[in-house]
Amino acid sequence: MTLNEFTDKVVLITGGASGMGLASAKRFSELGAKVCIMDKNKTRLNEVNIHLSASEDQIMTLECDISEPSQIEKGMKEINNSWGRLDIVFANAGIGGVMAPIETMDIKDWKKTIDIDLTGTFATVKYAIPLLKKQGGSIVITSSISGNRVYSQAGFSCYSTAKAAQATFMKMAALELGQYGIRVNAVCPGGVATNMSENMSKSPEVQNISMQPHFPRGNQPLMKGSADPSQIADAVEFLTSQKASHITGTELYIDGGESLLQG
Ligand code: NAD
Repeated sequence: MTLNEFTDKVVLITGGASGMGLASAKRFSELGAKVCIMDKNKTRLNEVNIHLSASEDQIMTLECDISEPSQIEKGMKEINNSWGRLDIVFANAGIGGVMAPIETMDIKDWKKTIDIDLTGTFATVKYAIPLLKKQGGSIVITSSISGNRVYSQAGFSCYSTAKAAQATFMKMAALELGQYGIRVNAVCPGGVATNMSENMSKSPEVQNISMQPHFPRGNQPLMKGSADPSQIADAVEFLTSQKASHITGTELYIDGGESLLQG
């Protein structure tokens, strides 16, 4: 492996046991970085090494539910104890949440989505700051086109609200952390072929709501089909690299042009 700017850097990826998190873990480990994957899915965590061709001392897997801030704080201590630094955070873990009309949505389902997608992202960034501040670094948050192009996503109020708030939180974090040499950006994917999108497309709630004419669904992307998770990893690699050294507070859409058609 040739040395590059990521060699021996320490990267934290939440939700790194699947989908775009796993694709990014693969990418960073191939570039020689040390990667800590925090994920709540123990089975998938135990299998990540099958997907990564990395040496054992390059990968750390931590079972962590990001809606439990104490678990994130504990994870940061483990990263510090093992590797003594943190350079890059990909705050990516999230759920699609429940799709239901506002009138019938259960408050518990609303809170669960906000706890994971929004508060979990906040807590990930919050507890990473002391480590990132030591030498500067870069944070990428996974928002979504759903946070911006809401009118074609009726029935998706909790997810869209959480994703929109993540994008605003990203800008606030960029504003506060620039003084420490920490850049903060967001990736906003459209459809990506992952477990999450597959499960959602099969869910009865999504099927049901898609059938209702007064709940219109989104358009197809200009570039046909879903993105591959590796295409999100491309964007994360760019945003955390020196090539993006003057980029902070930005939302990068990786949606095959879908948002152009909806806006
Ligand atoms: P995925 O289901 O393949 O991966 C998500 C990972 O997050 C899983 O490994 C899961 O165990 C983990 N996770 C879920 N809740 C967690 C929690 N509370 N604590 C820790 N880990 C948790 O899905 P994905 O599509 O790769 O999703 C990654 C991110 O991308 C999410 O934030 C999602 O909202 C966002 N996103 C997905 C799409 C899409 O079309 N798939 C589009 C836009 C944005």
